Amino acid sequence: MLEADQFRLGLYVHWPFCERRCPYCDFNVHELDPDQPTDQARWAAALSAELRHFAPLAQGRRLTSIFFGGGTPSLMAPETVEAVIDTARREIGFLNDIEITLEANPTSANAERFAGYRAAGVNRLSLGIQSLRPDALLALGRQHSVDEALAALELARSAFDNLSFDLMYARPRQDREDWAAELDQALALRPDHISLYQLTIEPNTIFEQLARKGIIRPKEDDETADFYHWTRQRLSAAGYHGYEVSNHAAAPDRESAHNRLYWAYQDYIGIGPGAHGRLTTDGAKTATRQHRAPSVWLDQVEAQGHATVTHETLSAEDRLAEALPFGLRLTEGLPLAHFEALAPGLLSAGKIEALRAEGYLMARDDDWLQVSDEGRPVIDALARYLQS
Ligand code: SF4
Repeated sequence: MLEADQFRLGLYVHWPFCERRCPYCDFNVHELDPDQPTDQARWAAALSAELRHFAPLAQGRRLTSIFFGGGTPSLMAPETVEAVIDTARREIGFLNDIEITLEANPTSANAERFAGYRAAGVNRLSLGIQSLRPDALLALGRQHSVDEALAALELARSAFDNLSFDLMYARPRQDREDWAAELDQALALRPDHISLYQLTIEPNTIFEQLARKGIIRPKEDDETADFYHWTRQRLSAAGYHGYEVSNHAAAPDRESAHNRLYWAYQDYIGIGPGAHGRLTTDGAKTATRQHRAPSVWLDQVEAQGHATVTHETLSAEDRLAEALPFGLRLTEGLPLAHFEALAPGLLSAGKIEALRAEGYLMARDDDWLQVSDEGRPVIDALARYLQS
């Protein structure tokens, strides 16, 4: 790890509940029972307790970012969010320009809490709009309408200077013309940041079953690659820098500081059910994982202050296997010294040369690892080749 990287530290907070599971989603989420309201005070206390457990591992560093992800973190009461932020400030401390993001669903009920999140200290909102087409929202099993999404965006604008939203594209039966019109409509809303994800069919989801029965037909690779390249060019023409495979910012200070931390393989504490963390302590990079089941997680945290299932030291091979696919996602790439510091002697100069000669890596800079436009759709394969 480069010296500058050692001082960056993030906090990921996992909120595991959703109103209903979307048919394409394979995240660690649990549907809420409408008859059993979440005990927010209990969750606030447990998240704060687990954070206190990890705080000594910050080893003097202060937080550069916090990310409330899920699940649907906009189902958290603002008081719960505030309790976690206050504990983080007290136990670890913040750098002055800390970024605090919360992922929100744009239903009207969730949007009512936006001002409360801002007052709690959240300074960046990421809205899961997913589509501006009613039929697509229905097919994706989303809980909001297009009108609700637009109203939520307006409410979010009044509370937050820094606003991002997600859209999903390359959907079954979506054609390029319709996507062009939808994307133009989205860009006219002038988000500070936009994340554009291609729909992928994940194992053990309803969409996987539907695809197997031929009820939905995912796009072929050629077509998704065509969608991808066209989308990046359209974003660039609209003034958005695609600084990562799926993420575009209207200005450098609107890039996601927290996600950058993952891509640059820097450290973060992970709390909440199923959360992962990566922490360098006493010179060793370690991986942590918390219990996935919300009820077990709660019981364990209340009994012993944390629900850690594993906390293990990563070998040089592990570090390279994790850092490569992340680092290659960054458009400007990373210095070779970054990987050399993580895994001394494990990257083969011959393989890098071969990929440069094939045009998958940029050949401009000898001491830099940067994927070309041609390499971007096959990053995982490039990473596997480089670490084999
Ligand atoms: S709202 Fe998000 S996290 Fe929840 S089920 Fe849908 S896609 Fe998954």
